[in-house]
Amino acid sequence: MSAVVVRNLVKTYAGGDRRATDDVSLEVADGEFLVLVGPSGCGKTTLLRMVAGLESPDSGTVSIAGKDVTDLPARQRGLSMVFQSYAIFPHMKVRQNIGFGLTMRKVPKDEVDRRVKQAAELLHLEEYLDRYPAQLSGGQRQRVAVARAIVVDAAVLLMDEPLSNLDALLRLQFRAELKRIVSQLGTTTLYVTHDQAEAMSLGDRVAVMREGKVTQLGAPLEVYDRPANQFVGGFLGSPPMNFLTARVTRGTLAIGDATLPAPDHLSTWDGREVVMGVRAENIQVATDPAEGWVPARVEVVEPTGAALLLTVRLADEQLKVQAPATFPARPDTGVHLRAAPDALRFYDPSTGLALTSDRSHDQGP
Ligand code: ATP
Repeated sequence: MSAVVVRNLVKTYAGGDRRATDDVSLEVADGEFLVLVGPSGCGKTTLLRMVAGLESPDSGTVSIAGKDVTDLPARQRGLSMVFQSYAIFPHMKVRQNIGFGLTMRKVPKDEVDRRVKQAAELLHLEEYLDRYPAQLSGGQRQRVAVARAIVVDAAVLLMDEPLSNLDALLRLQFRAELKRIVSQLGTTTLYVTHDQAEAMSLGDRVAVMREGKVTQLGAPLEVYDRPANQFVGGFLGSPPMNFLTARVTRGTLAIGDATLPAPDHLSTWDGREVVMGVRAENIQVATDPAEGWVPARVEVVEPTGAALLLTVRLADEQLKVQAPATFPARPDTGVHLRAAPDALRFYDPSTGLALTSDRSHDQGP
C-alpha cells in the first residue's frame, strides 16, 4: 500500500494569476524517500503543505496509509514535519525541544526520556541535551528540528528545504547524515528542495516540478540520464545537459559541417531539425583527429579540481565538455569530440519532449 497518495490536486491562491499546483497526482510508497524538486515558484511547498494539511486544495484528494485525509486537520494526519526555519523553542533546552511532541501526546516521562536519548544518539546530539538553542550552531539547531520530528515515530515525515539554512560544507555533511538516518528508520519521507544535487543524492525517486505540474518522476539516475523533456535535462545536472540543433538527412545528423550517424528511430524526422541532448561527461575529447571524431574549438578552460570543464564551440553551438584534469586544453585551440551513440538524447524542437524509440519515456513538458 502506498503511504501517501495525492490525486489531481489543484490549488490557486487568492489573487494568484495561475495555479500553484495544477492537477498533481503522485504516490509515495511505504518507506520510500520521494523528493519534490524544481525551480522557485513551481509549487513544491504548496504540494507539501496540502499533504500536511496546512493548506486546503481547491480540488483533489490526499490519502495517508489508505485513508482519505483531505478534510482532516494537520494534527490528525499522523505526520511530522521539518521546515527550513527550524522552529525550535528558544526557551526550552534541547531535551525538551526534542521531546515536545511526545510530552504533548502525554507519553509517560520514562518513555519520553528513552526516545529522546535514542533520537539524540542518532543525530549526535547527546552532549547538547542540556543546552538552549541559542547555545548551538545552525547545523546543530537543524539537527534538533530533525530529532524532534523523528522522535514521534510518525508514519510519514515531511521536510521542506531542511538544509537550506546551512553553509555549503555543513549542508553536504548533514545531507549524508540525513540519508543515513532516514534509511535506518525506514520512514516514508516527502522532501522539498530546489537543489537538484540534493534531490539526486537523497531521493529513492525524484519528482521534477515545473509551473505547478510534475513533469517527470523516476529514480534519480533514470531522470538524469533520460530526461523526458528539455526542461528536466536543463534543470538536473551541473553543468546542465547540452542541447544542439541537428538536421536529420538520410540516416545522418548534421551539426554545421560535422556529421554523425542518426539513430533509426529518427527516420521519421528526415529533412527536419531535432534537438540533440548530451551531458558534458558523456563527451570524449582528444587533441588529435580520428575517424568519427568531430572537430571543435576550445573557448574556455575551467579546472574544477577533479576534472576540467571546457566550453567548446562546434559550428554555431557552444557546449560544455568534461575532460580529464590532465587534459592539455588551452583556449583558442582545436580539439576533437566524440560521444557514444547511446549517450545521445533527442527532443522535438517545438515541444521540447523526448523523441525516443520507446514512447513510454515521453511525458508532458
Ligand atoms: P520556493 O522554492 O521559492 O519556495 P515553491 O516551488 O515551493 O517555491 P510555492 O511556494 O509552492 O513554490 O509557490 C507556488 C506559487 O504559488 C508561486 O507562484 C507563489 O508565488 C504562489 N504562492 C505561494 N504561496 C502563496 C500565498 N500564500 N499567496 C499567494 N500566492 C502564493
